[in-house]
Amino acid sequence: MPDSEDAYDCETCGASVAPADATRSEPFGDLDPATWQTLNCPDCGDRLATVLVGDE
Ligand SMILES: [Zn+2]
Repeated sequence: MPDSEDAYDCETCGASVAPADATRSEPFGDLDPATWQTLNCPDCGDRLATVLVGDE
């Protein structure tokens, strides 16, 4: 059983990355960076997910 239900699996290097461990950057395209952030793998830098952050 995974130790974190919210971890993202990096398809590039195979790392399992918890959201708190991911590198965050502004989203691509015309998404509002105050509302959306991109989570990147801290090991290889590949994009893991784009997450909603402005609805808290
Ligand atoms: Zn990776």
